[in-house]
Amino acid sequence: MPELPEVEVTRQSFAGRIHGARIHAVRVGKPLRWPLGVEPESLISQAVGEVTRRGKYLWMPLDRGGLLIHLGMSGALAFSERAGDPGPHDHFDLVTGQGTLRLTDPRRFGAVVWSPALDAGAAAKLLAGLGLEPFDPAFTGKHLHAALRGRRVAIKQALLGGAIVVGAGNIYACEALFEAGIDPRTRSDRIGLARCERLAGAVRSTLARALELGGSTLRNFSDAHGMAGQFQLQARVYGRAGLPCLRLQPEGRCAGTIKRIVQGQRATYFCPVCQRR
Ligand SMILES: [Zn+2]
Repeated sequence: MPELPEVEVTRQSFAGRIHGARIHAVRVGKPLRWPLGVEPESLISQAVGEVTRRGKYLWMPLDRGGLLIHLGMSGALAFSERAGDPGPHDHFDLVTGQGTLRLTDPRRFGAVVWSPALDAGAAAKLLAGLGLEPFDPAFTGKHLHAALRGRRVAIKQALLGGAIVVGAGNIYACEALFEAGIDPRTRSDRIGLARCERLAGAVRSTLARALELGGSTLRNFSDAHGMAGQFQLQARVYGRAGLPCLRLQPEGRCAGTIKRIVQGQRATYFCPVCQRR
């Protein structure tokens, strides 16, 4: 599933190249998760503004309103100057004077939705309830601590929910909790301010690491999933059940063995020795 870093790297891969382009044609394939919400022809001849990201959504402003794009479970966007005919999994083409932006989505949980503005209509509805951006200066340990107060769910669940901070998907939540030395089963309201400071920093640094990796593969961004796989190679806990913990303590390597459990139907990996409740 494309996570925030993949979505951000996708944005960086085409935002500059499509900026200012005029729409020549719109090709719509099979139905996606949500309908476009406007006649495709009405988009023709409008110019594309600066594409931005909010959570895992991309916002493409046009002369009148804009398009909110989500990659769902299996979506990938590619921008090319000479796109061939759409294949069976290509469900949205935005043909512009500078190239074609194509959404390929075999499972069709992705969507392209027109909205009158980012803070109105369909976009406002879909973005309501999203937590802070991880790199927003307002996302601090203090903010995290206040948001976790009164929540009794496990910290991993609180992070995954996305209502406090966006971007901590399954892999990244596991990695951030490992980095912060917090047991993923810890009740959210039991985590003190100092540990919240560490966790907020860990969420940011984990995502920054993923963005860096993604950026280095930007040259050939035809396979978003290849990039997710590449980040996994660098994962310190995720997917490492039964392997020795990689944390270096002052007295040497942690003696723990990484354990896999299931929380809310998602796999969690952690070290029972150095990640504390
Ligand atoms: Zn350990």
